[in-house]
Amino acid sequence: MKPRAAIVAIGSELVDGRLADTNGQRLDPKLAGMGFEVAYHVCVADRLPDIVEAIRFAARRAHVVILSGGLGPTIDDITRDAAAAVAEQELRTDEAALAHVKMIFDALGREMPENNARQGLFPEKAVGLPNSRGTAFGFRLDLDLPHDGLTSRIYALPGVPHELDAMFDAHVAPQLRMLAHALGAPNFSSSTLVVFGMSESKLDAAIADLCRDDDPAVSLNVRDGTVRITVTASGDDVEAATAGARARADAIAERLGRRVVDRDGRDLPEVVADLLERTGTRLAFAESCTGGMAAALITRVGGISKSFLESAVTYSNAAKSDRLGVDPGLIEAHGAVSAEVAQAMASGARIRSGADVAVSVTGIAGPDGGTAEKPVGLVYMAIDASPKGGQPFTEVIERRFGALARGGHGRERVRALSAMTMLDRLRVWLEDRLAARSDGGG
Ligand code: ATP
Ligand code: MG
Repeated sequence: MKPRAAIVAIGSELVDGRLADTNGQRLDPKLAGMGFEVAYHVCVADRLPDIVEAIRFAARRAHVVILSGGLGPTIDDITRDAAAAVAEQELRTDEAALAHVKMIFDALGREMPENNARQGLFPEKAVGLPNSRGTAFGFRLDLDLPHDGLTSRIYALPGVPHELDAMFDAHVAPQLRMLAHALGAPNFSSSTLVVFGMSESKLDAAIADLCRDDDPAVSLNVRDGTVRITVTASGDDVEAATAGARARADAIAERLGRRVVDRDGRDLPEVVADLLERTGTRLAFAESCTGGMAAALITRVGGISKSFLESAVTYSNAAKSDRLGVDPGLIEAHGAVSAEVAQAMASGARIRSGADVAVSVTGIAGPDGGTAEKPVGLVYMAIDASPKGGQPFTEVIERRFGALARGGHGRERVRALSAMTMLDRLRVWLEDRLAARSDGGG
């Protein structure tokens, strides 16, 4: 039997519909990658008896229980009290945890409110886990529940997502890897391919025979045209597991060719940003139906200011002419949603911004505005490049996202897929540019 893990997410906002438990979601693959089977996600409101019950439920059924949230200083932060009740221990002050809170208030030049002293309180036998991002230390607490045969270990982590992630990676993951091993889990390793622009059915047809084994196991996760393919393999040691996962991921990547965005789990904006930097390419966008989404995607990546100059959000015909120099006659003749206008937008954006490459988009996002000839979901994108020391390049692509655009979120789907497709076309061009440069002996 695989060692089992359970996640108990604590917070009233998680059960009354205000907030989704994304902490649990992010912990799942990490735990699975260590060889745990995640058996339960429990969300529970900030009520002491309910939290106590939820922890008991999880602790009797899993070898390790991760608690998220409720470590703050306020009256509704009662995870420490609940854990102490389950373990039948008193609370005591952990000097290191308390000193950490005091230090943060000192650094802010403020008196520590009395409430915050609660953040130094842990169950007697708990061991503190440092928080590099916030005030609340987490803690680890070993429980003995011999009547069920599963000796459980609890980790209590802060609710704030980036604090939880940092604490888990730095302090919990190394301990859990050892625990998983001690409980008989083999070594696991995962490799994640990111693929864009392939329908699930095409993908399935291409790689189905490589996805049938239990080990290496292959799982697919699809969102907005992006498929993340995670390959998990076991091995006698970490190196063997890593090699096994890598070999299968490579075999899959071989079949998918240029559709593979990344072999290391990075998403499209990150990959594009990296390629821009490595090729010394400066980028501009001209966006109509996406209203700036392409710019929003690329500016998620830190350090992009080296490569990304601007995006012109030119929604009206007049804006396309005024800002990008698109000939009004061209719009008159072909319509704003046309290959010709997409092309003119891209070259105008490139010339006016001084970028090496510009990518444009114009389309009918819907729900209204479609015609028989130009239906909702019809989108034209153009790439126009004239890089220093490289070949000029221009191309228009037409996509019909209409079939994907039915239903309530159609407009958003068309916009999101358009912005991602722009980045993906840019990625392919940048990869070619990188390859051409290294062929040229540089
Ligand atoms: P704090 O010291 O900030 O009070 P805490 O450990 O008490 O931290 P909570 O008060 O439970 O944590 O949550 C803090 C914030 O973290 C919440 O407002 C919420 O935005 C976010 N959060 C909490 N739990 C989750 C969760 N399971 N998934 C995603 N976000 C969460
Ligand atoms: Mg709180």
